[in-house]
Amino acid sequence: MKILDASFVISAVRSEQYPTDGLPEIALAGRSNVGKSSLINKMMLRKNLARASSQPGKTQQLNYYLVNNEIYLVDFPGYGYAKVSKARREQFGQMVESYVREREVLRLQLLVVDVRHDPTKDDQLMYEWLKHYDIPMVVVATKADKIPRSRWDKHLKAIRTTLQMGASDKVVLFSSETGQGRDELWSIIYESISA
Ligand code: GDP
Repeated sequence: MKILDASFVISAVRSEQYPTDGLPEIALAGRSNVGKSSLINKMMLRKNLARASSQPGKTQQLNYYLVNNEIYLVDFPGYGYAKVSKARREQFGQMVESYVREREVLRLQLLVVDVRHDPTKDDQLMYEWLKHYDIPMVVVATKADKIPRSRWDKHLKAIRTTLQMGASDKVVLFSSETGQGRDELWSIIYESISA
């Protein structure tokens, strides 16, 4: 995938700030520290455009990145950070919930998990909830470079089992270190926006 242009657009804290140009959006959810910013940077071939917030979970905003003037990558706040107050958690819920339910240009949701670990309770809730709203979704299992190749299959199976994924649901093995999975993920993204 040739990246001609990639830029940060806005940290939206209210829906009125979302872009109005009608371009397709690919959203990313995952727990804090799972590797979401690294993945976004790798997808865009930029080193530091997406940044993990220094206080994970504190900023409740949707970060918009525009790629090649044709697709937005929309980064949700990382969830599952223990120190976030209940009020913030509720705010997170409301913002993400109304985005997912109402955003017509949302074409695909990426749920980012760590390939080394079983998905958390929060991951499971997010998965079930996205399924409930019938949002096209791909699970991205990142940090693949951190375990030996011989164990990938076992871990991918564990993720499928824990999330109770259907046979036709996709998991993409990814590494922001090596770029593994990048081409596959871009293909899936392009398929979703041309459907
Ligand atoms: P975020 O909070 O989900 O945005 O997570 P970050 O992208 O900031 O990543 C959290 C930590 O994991 C950082 O130290 C990254 O360098 C590291 N990391 C993220 N993705 C990978 C990966 O694919 N491979 C390896 N080895 N480390 C990664």
